[in-house]
Amino acid sequence: MTVIRGATTIAEDSADEIRSAVKELLEQIENMNSIRRDEILSIVFSSTSDIHSYYPAKAAREAGFESCSLFSAQEPEIEGGLGLCIRVMLFVEKNIPPRHVYLRGARLLRKDLSGKMNIAIDGPAGSGKSTIAKLLAKDYHILYLDTGAMYRACALKALRSGVDPDNEAQVCDLMRTLALNVEYADGCQRTLLDGTDVSDELRTPEVSMAASSISRHECVRSKMVEKQREIAAKLSCVLDGRDIGTCVLPDADFKFFLTASPDVRAARRFDEMTAKGYRVDFEELRREIMRRDEQDSTRAIAPLRPANDAVIIDTSRLSVAEVLAAIKQKMQEKI
Ligand code: C5P
Repeated sequence: MTVIRGATTIAEDSADEIRSAVKELLEQIENMNSIRRDEILSIVFSSTSDIHSYYPAKAAREAGFESCSLFSAQEPEIEGGLGLCIRVMLFVEKNIPPRHVYLRGARLLRKDLSGKMNIAIDGPAGSGKSTIAKLLAKDYHILYLDTGAMYRACALKALRSGVDPDNEAQVCDLMRTLALNVEYADGCQRTLLDGTDVSDELRTPEVSMAASSISRHECVRSKMVEKQREIAAKLSCVLDGRDIGTCVLPDADFKFFLTASPDVRAARRFDEMTAKGYRVDFEELRREIMRRDEQDSTRAIAPLRPANDAVIIDTSRLSVAEVLAAIKQKMQEKI
């Protein structure tokens, strides 16, 4: 016997949508696996708790799956889970290597079966990019690349070497000897500068400001962008930064630009820093964020701005779960 898995999503909770999605999914499973209908012993469906209009099993019967036993069940409500989703498990009489089928928004459930994807999340400091990018990467089992950490590492190197991040000639000299690597441990990015893990030294206000200054130079950006493209070309990943959608990956599968009011962003950074044990002054932090925004948005190369085809989300009044749900919804709509 062979067991074949599959899933699909519907655009809205209606009987017609369920009928057509179930028919499409089962027919694709049959075609992909070269199975005859009378070889199917039984089909088990589950649907997410936001589906009420129709039994997928009934839709299968109507689509001509007459001889097999059918069963539908409802899944529990899972926060942040993929919505309006119908999952299926087919039991087939013969022994074949199963080809599982994931359609529409459900392609996101099995990236391993549905190809590589890159998600670009840009926005200013404190807009929630990194929190959201990490959660998305975890949910989809793909890599999270924090591109800001790479510019921060360049800045740290300059500060340690006594190089002024604004001095382009000195910075370019320094870049020639830069050994920067990103590694992953338990799904977390570790940034290695000259062979040493500096991840825990990159978040100070001094490094933040220096990163914004140093990232204006062409010799820095070209080196970082090359590394980022190299990683994104090989693996599915979520990249967060300022120029991912506009410059690093103009062809990214999904592009988001997160914003929030300066007060909200400063408050988020303040909470984040104090939770990590840093002593920071709120007003100073707010000023630093505003200065960085100004510098990042007005620089000549790859300034901070949304790509024309990015979905812009103002996160000021949204919870993390709400932003995540909005992003997943948009991704589902696009697939
Ligand atoms: O995102 P994060 O605050 O860690 O970024 C630090 C600085 O690095 C930013 O203020 C920006 O100047 C620079 N940066 C950039 N391009 C990116 C990511 C960060 O210029 N893709």
